[in-house]
Amino acid sequence: MFNQIALHERLLKAVAELKFVEPTPVQAAAIPPALEGRDLRVIAQTGSGKTAAFVLPILHRLLGEDRPKVRTRALILLPTRELAQQTLKQVEAFAQFTFLKGGLVTGGEDFKVQAAMMRKEPDVLIGTPGRLIEHLEAGTLHLEAVEVLVLDEADRMLDMGFAEAVQRLAELCSKRQQTLLFSATSGGAGLRAMVASVLKDPLHLQL
Ligand code: AMP
Repeated sequence: MFNQIALHERLLKAVAELKFVEPTPVQAAAIPPALEGRDLRVIAQTGSGKTAAFVLPILHRLLGEDRPKVRTRALILLPTRELAQQTLKQVEAFAQFTFLKGGLVTGGEDFKVQAAMMRKEPDVLIGTPGRLIEHLEAGTLHLEAVEVLVLDEADRMLDMGFAEAVQRLAELCSKRQQTLLFSATSGGAGLRAMVASVLKDPLHLQL
């Protein structure tokens, strides 16, 4: 039962509102160590409920008491605009009883509108690596307050040629305390290299 997981009450309220009763296997395995602050390397498919497995621990952290007033404290990288849009929807659904805001930065959308949105410093920024690098180069992306980084569908991001962009974005999160990496497959040498360079003493979970 979700009620047995030590999540902030406003998140449990959203979970109940969304009619989630039992955590899926990936949620049951990943949420408790993520709440403890561990780095995770998770192999799980789309449809397994992996989005909630990283979104809920992120929101729980951001609801903690030592919250600075503004600043983007979580960054979620995904390979495609569609996945990023779906992830924003889940962030908004789980954050519906909180003050936390999500922001989306993907290709195919207006650059200036995104820059204006980022000036308001959404708590959770969700985006694709290519467009985020464009904002970095334009001086409109600020990651210095990011504490949690999620690399979702990391194997697909590598297949799409985003290895260098992901690495660069990860290095810019200078206050990074936790990194959660999800992939559908165990991946090849590129993914192993990314795991080794980005994760610290990760817990390996295969669902
Ligand atoms: P995901 O694998 O994160 O893309 O999630 C797949 C779908 O399952 C999404 O529509 C979620 O809303 C739904 N879902 C995730 N976790 C649960 C759960 N514990 N109970 C019911 N539905 C869920």
